[in-house]
Amino acid sequence: MIRSSRTWMMKLMGLPTCEEIEQFAYSYLEEELQLEQKRKFERHLRGCRNCQRFIHTYRQVARPERLLQKIPLDPCFESRVVQYLRENH
Ligand SMILES: [Zn+2]
Repeated sequence: MIRSSRTWMMKLMGLPTCEEIEQFAYSYLEEELQLEQKRKFERHLRGCRNCQRFIHTYRQVARPERLLQKIPLDPCFESRVVQYLRENH
């Protein structure tokens, strides 16, 4: 499926787009999303393998102790994860 048509479908269903999933991945893993946001986030994940893979990788790269200590990730981190996923699709 083409990415743009999926984005359109997610919007139609009131769910976040893939770009928003990438954007909110850190908050999601830190449990900072509100319940409603979290539900939508997870509903998107269930229907989108790309984002499942993204979160999986994100979780592995952002080490738990780092999350616990609330050490800010370096600014290039997210783009590196996105880059990694694009190269390995
Ligand atoms: Zn997605």
